[in-house]
Amino acid sequence: MNVLVLNCGSSSLKYQLIDMNTQEVLCSGLVERIGDPMGKIAHKSFPGSDKQKAVSSEEAFPDHGAALKAANVLISSNPETKVVSAVSDIAAIGHRVLHAGTVYREPVVIDTDVKATIRKFFILGPLHNPPQLIGIEAAEVLYPGVPQVAVFDTAFHATIPDYAATYAIPYSYYTELGVRRYGFHGTSHWYVAKKTASVIGKPFDKTSCITVHLGNGCSMDAVKNGVCVDTSMGLTPLQGLMMGTRSGDIDASIYAFLAKNKGMSVEEIDNLLNKQSGLKGICGMNDMRDIHAARAKGDKMAQLAVEMFCYRVKQYIGAYLAALDGCDAIAFTAGIGENDTDVRQMVCEGLGSVGVKIDKDRNYGFKRGEVCKISSDDSPVAVYVIPTNEELEIATQTVSVVASK
Ligand code: ADP
Repeated sequence: MNVLVLNCGSSSLKYQLIDMNTQEVLCSGLVERIGDPMGKIAHKSFPGSDKQKAVSSEEAFPDHGAALKAANVLISSNPETKVVSAVSDIAAIGHRVLHAGTVYREPVVIDTDVKATIRKFFILGPLHNPPQLIGIEAAEVLYPGVPQVAVFDTAFHATIPDYAATYAIPYSYYTELGVRRYGFHGTSHWYVAKKTASVIGKPFDKTSCITVHLGNGCSMDAVKNGVCVDTSMGLTPLQGLMMGTRSGDIDASIYAFLAKNKGMSVEEIDNLLNKQSGLKGICGMNDMRDIHAARAKGDKMAQLAVEMFCYRVKQYIGAYLAALDGCDAIAFTAGIGENDTDVRQMVCEGLGSVGVKIDKDRNYGFKRGEVCKISSDDSPVAVYVIPTNEELEIATQTVSVVASK
């Protein structure tokens, strides 16, 4: 059974075709700069499938529908790259959709009600929900009769109890506008939490863990008995941990302070906190590899940026250990979480008194791309590196929804 996974960003389309019998990726691709005068499509058909080919070309993609059409040619009809002989070889399509508020806790087959919900949440996902709806409607035309499933980024977080999700501002802002904590990276956290359960050999609904997703965007989840009970991001992906260019938690009054004292507009402050802050705001760089290279040469601001970054993750681990009242494991994932030994070491060192004992040799000896245990055997809370795979999670959820119909 082949599942096409589509992930429409504000100006991009990522896709993967996965054979769910073998979990083999048959092909994948990225269309960028959708809506610009000139865009780019890069496509790979993978070893093991009958074509092994990487192609890329530049052309204009006026919208996500045009991008999907171009991808479909490479997937199913271009003789150089195709990995299926007909569109009918695609059994289902899984769409990553950013926002459905708390409406859906599970993936759903897309119908007019689901599309109306996606539209309703344009206000909370203005950059993602509109292109994702365009992608869905384009896929309905290109793949008629193929079941389309929406996997919502917010679904895993829809279980967070009101006391953790509600902001302490007048409640009417929630009832009128939906202002509350929703969190993001939900599909990644869900995948990693389930994988953590299988690695420690416990049923998911008996597993409590903290998932630490550290990429350009960074977030953490507290998962109690397979149910998410807290997340670090908020109404938007700005809240929580320090990130590549995002500030994470700050005193909310900084907005008003900057407006009053620097004459900055709402847009300027939003841009400052989302695009010029975080690691970049402290040391001028947002790629962790560059920052470590600078630290190694004695750059004090790079050192401060890393210390700040790790301290914030450590604080959230403490908070989530308290929220969970019993935790089996902590799982690091995404670009930094999976690869950055120094960050993992700095985060976990000094947590022995709360049951987290990292093993330095295991941490530094980890194998890239593999599940690795990096805590000592006597650590009450195990610590793992678990590579994330959002596409596989979307495809898996798509299969389970289609099979249950
Ligand atoms: P996103 O999907 O959020 O764009 P990724 O999960 O790809 O981000 O993570 C990007 C981050 O991972 C960057 O800060 C990058 O520096 C960091 N990263 C990738 N590889 C390594 C590595 N080997 N060591 C340290 N950091 C790394």
